[in-house]
Amino acid sequence: MFYVGRDSCKYCNIPEEKILHRTPVSFIMFGSQLHPGHVKIIYREHVEDIRELPPRIQNALWSDVMKTARAVDRVFRPDRLNYQLLGNWEPHIHWHIYPRYRTDPDWGQPPILHWKVDGRRVSPGPTKMKEIPLAEEQAGAFKEALKKEFS
Ligand SMILES: [Zn+2]
Repeated sequence: MFYVGRDSCKYCNIPEEKILHRTPVSFIMFGSQLHPGHVKIIYREHVEDIRELPPRIQNALWSDVMKTARAVDRVFRPDRLNYQLLGNWEPHIHWHIYPRYRTDPDWGQPPILHWKVDGRRVSPGPTKMKEIPLAEEQAGAFKEALKKEFS
């Protein structure tokens, strides 16, 4: 159980310019670009476990995830997509969509968790991985793709 007030909650205070799209139930924003094209779909309210939501809202969220996945696929052309549903650090359930590429150093492994360094498998944590900033035109193309999916 979280005891985070809305004033101090990171996801209740996402800077407007970081929000790529809003739906009636979620915000969509880029995640860290350790996996280029990584996005998050964040439920708007303070709920920590999807089981707490009525089916109607669960379905609306899943629809947002699938529409976002189609936009990711269209713009970033990954070889595969990975999905993760979390709510551990912030009191908002949220999905991560990780585009995966055959050229990833961790291709075939769960995202972020297992990277090979000098032939050894390590779990360096996100701070040791390198973000690849998105080109402005790629970010713009993704925003447009989202607009199409949600229209
Ligand atoms: Zn919040």
